[in-house]
Amino acid sequence: MDLGLFLAKAFLRVLSLWVNLLHFQKPGRYVNSEYNAIHKKAPVSVALAFPDIYDVGMSHLGLKILYAIINELPFSSAERVFAPWSDLEAALREQKEPLTSLESNRPLHAFDIVGFSLQYELSYTTVLNMLDLGGIPLRTEQRLESKDMPLILAGGPCTVNPQPMSPFIDAFLIGDGEEAVKEILSLYHQWKEDGSGDRSMLLKNLARIEGVHVPFLGKESKTKRRFIHSLDDVPFPTDPVVPFTNIIHDRVNIEISRGCTMGCRFCQAGMIYRPARERSPEKILEIAEKSLRSTGYDTLSFTSLSSGDYSCLNLLMKEFNRRFSSQRVSLSLPSLRVGSVNEDMLKELRAVRKSGFTIAPEAGTDRLRAVINKDFTNETYSRAIEMLFRAGWQNLKLYFMIGLPTETDEDISAISGMVLQAIRTSKKMTGRHATLSVGVSSFVPKPHTPFQWYGQNNLDTILEKNRYVKAALLRRGVQFRGHDPEMSMLEAAFSRGDENLSQLIEEAWRLGCRLDAWTEFFDPSKWKQAMEKTGIDAAAYAEREYAYDTPLPWDNIDTGITKKFLWSEYQKATAAEFTSDCRKVCHACGLKCRPEDLQKEIPVLSSPASDMKTRKNLPPEGISLRARLQYNKLGRARYLSHLETTTALVRGMRRAGFPFKYTEGFHPGPKVSFGPALGVGTAGMKEYIDIELLPPFGLQEGLLLLMKNLPDGLQATAMKAVPKSEKSLTGFVVRYTYEIIARQGLSLDGFFENRDMMIQRKQNSFRLSDMVEDVRKTGDTSALLTAKDLGEIKVRLDELLPLIFKQPADDLEITRTAMFGWDGRWKEPMEETAWQARS
Ligand code: SF4
Repeated sequence: MDLGLFLAKAFLRVLSLWVNLLHFQKPGRYVNSEYNAIHKKAPVSVALAFPDIYDVGMSHLGLKILYAIINELPFSSAERVFAPWSDLEAALREQKEPLTSLESNRPLHAFDIVGFSLQYELSYTTVLNMLDLGGIPLRTEQRLESKDMPLILAGGPCTVNPQPMSPFIDAFLIGDGEEAVKEILSLYHQWKEDGSGDRSMLLKNLARIEGVHVPFLGKESKTKRRFIHSLDDVPFPTDPVVPFTNIIHDRVNIEISRGCTMGCRFCQAGMIYRPARERSPEKILEIAEKSLRSTGYDTLSFTSLSSGDYSCLNLLMKEFNRRFSSQRVSLSLPSLRVGSVNEDMLKELRAVRKSGFTIAPEAGTDRLRAVINKDFTNETYSRAIEMLFRAGWQNLKLYFMIGLPTETDEDISAISGMVLQAIRTSKKMTGRHATLSVGVSSFVPKPHTPFQWYGQNNLDTILEKNRYVKAALLRRGVQFRGHDPEMSMLEAAFSRGDENLSQLIEEAWRLGCRLDAWTEFFDPSKWKQAMEKTGIDAAAYAEREYAYDTPLPWDNIDTGITKKFLWSEYQKATAAEFTSDCRKVCHACGLKCRPEDLQKEIPVLSSPASDMKTRKNLPPEGISLRARLQYNKLGRARYLSHLETTTALVRGMRRAGFPFKYTEGFHPGPKVSFGPALGVGTAGMKEYIDIELLPPFGLQEGLLLLMKNLPDGLQATAMKAVPKSEKSLTGFVVRYTYEIIARQGLSLDGFFENRDMMIQRKQNSFRLSDMVEDVRKTGDTSALLTAKDLGEIKVRLDELLPLIFKQPADDLEITRTAMFGWDGRWKEPMEETAWQARS
C-alpha cells in the first residue's frame, strides 16, 4: 500500500478511536503513549501479540524482554498488540476496523511478523480471534501462497506441545527466546531483501534454527528446545513501558533466576526450563537501579520459579534495601518455597512496605507432597506460619491442588486442617484472626513432566472434591477461590492433545469462544456445542492414561530431559518416594549439567553506587517545602482517570528525582495532594498538585527535569513554593471554566429552557442558573462555560452539560481551561494570595 495512504488511514483510525475511547471500559488500556513506549520504523516490523487483554499482557516479562531485544536491532521494530475486551471487539467488528498495534495503530495484517506468546492453553481461541480481527487467514496453508500476509510465530511454555495449534502457526520457537529471536529476524530480513516471496523456502530455512519447529514440514521433524547458558550474557530490559492504567503486576520485575532444581513432579516450568540459571547479584542490582530510575516505580519484585532458592538471596535483599529503602522502594518475592523462608528474609521483605504472603503447600498431607515431590512438611509449615505471624503478616494466601495422583479422602480433608491451623496460630500469636484466601484448582497433567502419562480426574470427581473442600472452608469463614474445573479439563486436553484438537479450537472460536480464561467470558455450553459439532471429546483427551511405550503427541519436541528419567520419577511418585534438590545430587535427568554449576559461591557485593542516597544522608524529617505544580492533561491523556493521572505524575516526579517527603505508617507514600479531579475524557489546561519535598530542591531545575520525564499528554508548566498553612487546593478552588467543542452544531437552547430547573441530588437541590455563572457560544460548534460549586455541592459536568447543550457529556470534547478560588477577587492557584503577600 502507498505509504501516504497508509499513514492517512492510520491517522483516521486514531481519530475514530479517539472520539470513541470513552465508550470503552478502562480507556487507559488504549492510550498508546505510555512512558518508554518505542515508536520506530525499520525494514522488518514485528507485532508482539499477547492473546489476553492489556492488563495481563503488560505484566508479562517475556514480552518486555522481546520488545527491548527486537527494538534494539537496527533492522527491526516491535510493537504491542493485545486482545480487545468485548466492548472494543464489538466496535471493531461493527465498524469493520481491523485490530491494530498500540504504537503505530497499524493493522495486524500489515506487519511482517506476528509473534504470539502462548502462556496458557485457554488463550488458543483468542489467538484465532486476534488473527481474524487483524485480517489474517487462520491457517498456515491459507497464507502459504500469499506474499502479503505476515509470518505467524509463537513462543512460550505451551509450545512444548505444539500439536493443537500447529495448523495456525507457521513456526514455534521452543525454549529461551533471547538469542533465537535475533536469528529468526535476521533470516527474515535477508529473505525480505531477496524479494523471492517464497514462503515455503522461508519456513524450511527457519526450521534450521535451533529451537524452531515448523509444523508445515511434518510431525517427523524433531525439534530441540533452545537454551541459553548464562542469564548475565543476554539483555534484560531496564526501561520497560510504564502503563497508565493499573495492570496485574504493576512494578519493576527482575528475573533473578530461570529454571528450578527442586523437581516438583507436577510443575512443567520446573522441568522445561532446567537447569536452573541465576543472574549475578551485581547484575540484578544494576538492573534494579536503572529500571527504578527509568520507570519511577516504587515497588520491585525478584521473580523466579522459586525466589527463595536464589543462592545469596538474603545478602541481595539486604543490599537492595540499603540502596533503595530511602526512596521507599519496596521489595516483593512472589514465589517462595516455604522451606526457604527465614527470619532475615522476612525482615528485609517488610523493610519498606509489607505486601501479602503466599504459601503453596499444593497438597494437604506429607504423603501426597512426597508423591508430587514438594519439599514441604507439616513441620516446616508450622514453623513458617509462626514466623510469618510473629513478623506481623496478617494476610496469607494458600494454594492447593485437587485431583493429584494417588490422592485419598484423607489428603482432601487435610486441606481444611491446614487452613484451620493457620487461623489458630494467628489467634495464638497475635490475638487476631489472619485474613486467609485459599485458592484450590484441579491438577492438570502437563507434557514433559513425570505426570504426563497420568489421566486427569473426571469432571464429576473433581466437582465432588471441590464441593467438599469449599464446604469445609466456608464453615471457617475463609475466602475460598476455586478454579473452574471445566476450564482445567480443557487446559488438560489442549496441553496433552494432538493436532485433531485444532478443529475443536476453531469451531469453539466460531461459536464465540474467546478470552476463555476469564470467568466473564468462559462459556462451557459453547464448548459442548463445539464438541458435538466436531465429534471431539475434550474430556477423553484430558482423562486419557498413556502407557510408557505409547507414542505421545509431543514426542517430537526434545527438551533435553529423557523419557526414562520422567518415567522413573513417575514410578517414584506412586511409591511416595522423594527426589532431592538437584543442586545437592544430580539425578541424571538427561541434561548433563554439572551440579557444581548450580551451587554458586556467595559473591561479595560491590559497595553501593555513590550517587545513591542512604537514609543517613537525608535531612531531618520535618523540614520540608510545599511546592505547587501546574500541569496540562491533553491529547489522549484526557482518557486517564484521576487515579491514573496522579500515578503517572508521581512516577514522572520519581523519574525526575524529586526528593519526596513520605507519609508514615505501614504503606509510606509521597505527600501529595491534588486539585479537584477531572473526569475521564476531560482535558485540563491548568491543573494543580501540591507536593511536599525535602530540601535542597531547586524549583526551576525540578520543573525542567519533570518536563522531560512525563509521558505524552501530561505537561508540567509551572512550579512555585507555597506556605504550608495555605489552604489546600480542594479547599481553595470553587469556580471553573470549560471550553466545550461539539462534533456538530452546539446550541444553548437547553440552558434557556432549563435555567430555572431545580436539580436534585441525594441530600441537596439547587437551581441550574445558580451553578452556571456564565455560558456563551464562541463559534458554531464551541462554547465557554463558567460554573461554580455551591458550598458542598460540587460541579458535575455529566449533570450540567446535557441540560445546557442537550447533548450527553460523552459526545462533547471538554477542556477545563482554568480554576479559581476567592481571595478578595477570583484568583488562580498560582497567583499570590493575600496570606502569602503578608507572610
Ligand atoms: S542434569 Fe542433574 S543437575 Fe542438571 S538439571 Fe538434570 S538432575 Fe539437575
